[in-house]
Amino acid sequence: MANRVGIWGGAFDPIHIGHLLLAQEALEACRLDQIVWVPYGDPPHKAGPVASAADRVKMIELAIQGVAAFTVSQSELERPGKSYTARTLEQVREHASLHDRFFLLIGADNAVDFSGWIEPDRVLELADIIVFSRPGISLDKVPAEYRAQMKFLKTPLFEVSSTAVRNRLASGASIKFLVPDTVRQFIESNRLYLESGANG
Ligand code: ATP
Repeated sequence: MANRVGIWGGAFDPIHIGHLLLAQEALEACRLDQIVWVPYGDPPHKAGPVASAADRVKMIELAIQGVAAFTVSQSELERPGKSYTARTLEQVREHASLHDRFFLLIGADNAVDFSGWIEPDRVLELADIIVFSRPGISLDKVPAEYRAQMKFLKTPLFEVSSTAVRNRLASGASIKFLVPDTVRQFIESNRLYLESGANG
């Protein structure tokens, strides 16, 4: 049977309600059968994540517990070197049925940077790109040569980021309702993100 599979990559440092709400939007709008959450190992464009890979995976697992359509892949964590989306998509396709169709989910900030990705044309060959609106990011800034090849989902705007969650923790502010409660408890009991909100 052919599956429609969403691929949702990110640092997830930590996963927050914006990620979850947008995944649910994509699931329904694109009639996806499943969404695979792919935490970055060592991202080429950003400073490294603050929390360990194991903690970031654990937080995703806690957040998606009980949601049959959501799974986590550790492929980018297991592969040595930098995480390139083109390689990740090639890897998931290798293990998929020939008829499966892949949808790469990205926020508008990632769409704006798309020409700076490694092998953007290869990424477009391997998956349909689904772009979520993000507060403060104008879609006019998405490179024109790629805009026509992306699908822009009209999603509600969620003013939340992992940086904001980390900053709140570092300053002693509450993160209640910004992350699922199980994730908040994990962060608190492991004393994560107390040092500084910045990554790197
Ligand atoms: P950080 O603040 O550390 O940059 P982030 O909140 O952007 O983190 P990531 O894990 O880097 O989270 O993001 C994974 C994906 O989710 C990216 O494609 C990003 O654009 C998208 N994303 C995250 N938060 C939102 C949001 N509130 N609205 C739309 N897209 C989002």
